Amino acid sequence: MPERPTGLDAGRMVLASSNRGKLREINEILAPLHISARPQSEFDIEPVDETGLTFVENALLKARAAAERADLPALADDSGLIVDALDGQPGIHSARYAGPEADDEANNAKLLRALDGLPPERRSAAFFCCMVLLRHPLDPAPLIVTGSWRGEILASPRGDGGFGYDPLFYDRQLGATAAELPLGEKNRVSHRGQALKALLDKLSADRQ
Ligand code: IMP
Repeated sequence: MPERPTGLDAGRMVLASSNRGKLREINEILAPLHISARPQSEFDIEPVDETGLTFVENALLKARAAAERADLPALADDSGLIVDALDGQPGIHSARYAGPEADDEANNAKLLRALDGLPPERRSAAFFCCMVLLRHPLDPAPLIVTGSWRGEILASPRGDGGFGYDPLFYDRQLGATAAELPLGEKNRVSHRGQALKALLDKLSADRQ
């Protein structure tokens, strides 16, 4: 048991992100537990500089800043796309792959250019997600979980759901891109869904 009230018991936490796609996916999974993750923009929290070299470092930086400023438990998700033929890029730079102001369209266009001409067997990739939950800013034992989802990058986009690289990320077993999956189905198989499920398991073990 944590040593002080966490706010989690009151069903509230701040999500160290304002990414609407992430927020939707995370809240869908948390809803049955009556926990609501509020985006940090609701607390006027600006994004921190992601100076880490790994997903886990960046998730910790984001969660700590949000917990401090909102005075609530903070959940951070640092995630991205790891493309084998690009030595792991865009990786931790996924959100801004095409430049500091890049949007999803520009990032996807850059990815397609980088893989231009490669056959399907050389277009393998994985989405990776690290989630960190800090019960309070000085929590010395954060809950840290990860999830990954393997697939391949198509030569042109398919589907209009999801966000980010979803229209290019193809799951051969499901026969669909991430943007073609209903939200519940994406959460069942995705990097973020797996990480969140692991987090929920740890949380319930904590509460026993
Ligand atoms: P972060 O906000 O710094 O963690 O960057 C995450 C970036 O990785 C997003 O902006 C997307 O470009 C990409 N990404 C992470 N998860 C997903 C996903 O589920 N679908 C599509 N793109 C994703």
